[in-house]
Amino acid sequence: MTAQILDGNALAQELRASFKTRVAALTAQGHTPGLAVILVGEDPASQVYVRNKVNACAAVGMYSEKIVYPADVDQATVLAKIAELNADPKVHGILVQLPLPAHFDEKAVLEAIAAAKDVDGFHAENVGALAQGNPRFIPCTPYGVMKMFEKGNIDLTGKEAVVIGRSNIVGKPMALLLLNAGATVTVCHSKTRDLKFHTCRADIVVAAVGKPRFVTADMLKPGAVVIDVGINRLPDGKLCGDVDFEACKAVAAQITPVPGGVGPMTITMLLANTIEAAERNAQREAKR
Ligand code: NDP
Repeated sequence: MTAQILDGNALAQELRASFKTRVAALTAQGHTPGLAVILVGEDPASQVYVRNKVNACAAVGMYSEKIVYPADVDQATVLAKIAELNADPKVHGILVQLPLPAHFDEKAVLEAIAAAKDVDGFHAENVGALAQGNPRFIPCTPYGVMKMFEKGNIDLTGKEAVVIGRSNIVGKPMALLLLNAGATVTVCHSKTRDLKFHTCRADIVVAAVGKPRFVTADMLKPGAVVIDVGINRLPDGKLCGDVDFEACKAVAAQITPVPGGVGPMTITMLLANTIEAAERNAQREAKR
C-alpha cells in the first residue's frame, strides 16, 4: 500500500484564495481585517514565523502591524502595548510570538489579550469554550489539521484517535477537537508506559512530539491516517517531521508530508481566525 498524501500546500492555497473574497467584502464595508503581531527578542526562527505571518496577511489584502521589542524589554511595556491594541479598532487579532524570554510570565501576557482578539486561541476563555465543545477561536495548528481531515473526507466519528503530545498549543486542543468530532481519543506523552500499544490500535495518529522520525512504521495499524505536526531541523539543515515518512507511507492509508503538510495550514488558519474576528466585529457594529 502507498498512502495518499494529504497536501497542505494545495489546501492552504485554496483556502487563502477564498479569504481574498471575504477580506474584500469586509474592506468594502470599512472593516479591513487587521492582525497585530508582537515579537520580543531576536530568535531567528521567531523572526521568520513573524515575517511569514505579516506577508500572508498582505497577500490576501489584510492589514497587519509588527511590533518588535528587544529581548530585555520589561513585561509592563508589552502589557501596555497589548492594552492599546485591545482598544484599537484597526486590529481584530493580536498575537504574541512564543516563546517569550524567561523573565516573562507567559500566561499573564496571553491572558492580557482581549478574548475577542485572541486569534491564537490560547486565552483561558477560548480554551474553556473549546473544551465545552463550543469553540470561538481554535488554536491554528490543530484547526488546520481538522481542515485537512475535512478535505480528505476522513470521517472521525467512532474512530480510535491517538494524539502524541499534550502541549497547550497542539496536543491538548487537538485532542479536544477530535473528541468534539466524535472520535475516541487517547492522549500520549513522555510518561506514557507503552506508546506502541496505543498507536498500533489507532485509526488516526497525530504526532506532535518534536523528535525527528519518532513514529516508525511498526507503530502503525495498516490503513491508519497519520498526521505529522512536527517540524525538526536536521544537522544538514533539512526539515523533517516527527514521523518516518518514507517507511510509514507504505503502511498508512493517508499521511501528511513535512514540509508541505500541516505547516502551511497553521498560518492559513491564523488568517481564518482574524477574518472571523473582523466579521464578528462588523456584525456587532451593524447591530448598534
Ligand atoms: P512541546 O515540546 O510543547 O510538546 C511535546 C510533547 O511531546 C509533550 O507533551 C511531550 O510530553 C511529548 N513527548 C516528548 N517525548 C515523548 C516521548 N518519548 N513519547 C511520547 N511523548 C513524548 O511541543 P509542541 O506541542 O509545541 O510542538 C510539537 C512539534 O510540533 C514540534 O516539532 C514543533 O516544532 C511542531 N509544531 C509545528 C507547528 C506547525 O505549524 N506545523 C506549530 C506548532 C508546533 P510531556 O508533556 O510529558 O513532556
